[in-house]
Amino acid sequence: MEVLRSVSKHLARTAVVADGKSYRYKDILGRAQQTAETVRAFLSSNTNGTRGSPVGPCFAIMAPPGPQYVAATWASWLTGGVAVPLCLTHPAGELQYVLEDAKVSAVLTTHEHVATVTPLADKAGAKVLRIAESSQDAHEAQDLSSGLKPEQGALVVYTSGTTGRPKGALHTHSSLGAQIHALVTSWEWQPEDQILHCLPLHHVHGIINALYCAHAVGATVEFQPKFSPKAVWTALTREDDPVTVFMGVPTMYSHLLSFYDDMRSEDQEVARRATQRLRLTVSGSAACPLPIMQRWHALSGQWLLERYGMTETNMILSNPYSGERRAGFVGLPLPDVQVKAVPEDRAEASHDSGSQSETGELCVKGPNVFKEYLNKPEATAKAFDSEGWFRTGDIASLEGDPPYWRIVGRASVDIIKSRGYKISAPQIEDVILAHPGIAECAVMGAPDEALGEAVAAVIACKSKQVSLEELREWLAGKLPEYQLPSRMEVVENIPRNAMGKVNKKQLRKDFFGA
Ligand code: ATP
Ligand code: MG
Repeated sequence: MEVLRSVSKHLARTAVVADGKSYRYKDILGRAQQTAETVRAFLSSNTNGTRGSPVGPCFAIMAPPGPQYVAATWASWLTGGVAVPLCLTHPAGELQYVLEDAKVSAVLTTHEHVATVTPLADKAGAKVLRIAESSQDAHEAQDLSSGLKPEQGALVVYTSGTTGRPKGALHTHSSLGAQIHALVTSWEWQPEDQILHCLPLHHVHGIINALYCAHAVGATVEFQPKFSPKAVWTALTREDDPVTVFMGVPTMYSHLLSFYDDMRSEDQEVARRATQRLRLTVSGSAACPLPIMQRWHALSGQWLLERYGMTETNMILSNPYSGERRAGFVGLPLPDVQVKAVPEDRAEASHDSGSQSETGELCVKGPNVFKEYLNKPEATAKAFDSEGWFRTGDIASLEGDPPYWRIVGRASVDIIKSRGYKISAPQIEDVILAHPGIAECAVMGAPDEALGEAVAAVIACKSKQVSLEELREWLAGKLPEYQLPSRMEVVENIPRNAMGKVNKKQLRKDFFGA
């Protein structure tokens, strides 16, 4: 609703820049209204158009980042439907899974994708509808959101599938509104902002934090659909229409820094000034390794604003926009969001002089929390405790002065249980990444009869190979003995998904037989 409400206030402003062309809010509204007519015609001619969905008809969106993607989202809402953005690069099997899992009524798509999507939609019993590709005059209604109810479904985003099959998280207009409001106020979004957007449009980072927040205030979103360090540096160093906001996953910053290293020194000077000019530079979706944080700070004079969130809740914790940003930490709860850490062993916690322990599984309550996993009542029930707190599955701890939250890691793969110790894999990764010869690493527990789990590392080296002995020698004194890796595999690159996340369960299976 926040986005639709903003559209009528900002009709003449630029909403989107894509492929070098600018589109005003009213240009996109024209496309959205035309597409909404197509959708309404489909619903009224088809008695089973909503497929019995209690949350409203689901409309999958398969469109490149640009005016059509945005128009399709608005059209879904204008017709009382739920937008389900698809990943443009997913193999057919994954797309089929989403179309069937979400019981999609129709796929809204563009000429580039019709051929791919039609056989999948046919199989899933969904209709294919074309998004309007040119603008008609928009009907300039006062408030485009007036027909919507806050508790109505608005958006389904699939989780990244890092720990299992992706699940569709259903957000209502109300939960989306709360998420957008929290970020717009906390990160001080302005209508004058111009965000350079290189994130995928099927995860909350790219959809909500970057696209919807910008549009909720009348700002401009400049899409660069495929992340390319060269193209990002070109846009950032441009003098006219300066970019004010950039959001990325940690690997993007790492690639930008490597590209910077190879620039001529005069270009480096221009690039450095560009980073200093950015109003807001955000990192998230995975923990940002300390060396990347520090290098970006040395370059730009500002700390990346690291925040923590997930598909089911959108953003939960954030370093402050003004005030101390602490590297390695994710800050404090966003407005209206409540958090608590529930220790694994509650009995142990009760020794804690009655006070709530401050390390444990992070649980969340607030208007930002999703409604349910679509068509998965059992998974939804399991995700909440008896008092309605959503369990994130991440271990967090509140530390320092003033206390800030730190993400220790995922309970399922990042906490290594070895010799009776509980070891945080991401903390070891941060230390290993400071090794001059190591480009990437993922640390995990490998099954070990004697130790319970052994600390195991998968590494990618820069130019010359680093052996396990060399690494252990280098780490000695930096980490306690029981945290030193005893197993190691060297790979060319660590495989990551579109959000730069490592699937440790898969790596553990591939390399350590578990
Ligand atoms: P699935 O739920 O399908 O296994 P996923 O949890 O990776 O996949 P997302 O919702 O995209 O799917 O990711 C949320 C997770 O990303 C969080 O639970 C957390 O583990 C991780 N994460 C996000 N931001 C940060 C951060 N700043 N630091 C550490 N971890 C983060
Ligand atoms: Mg998850």
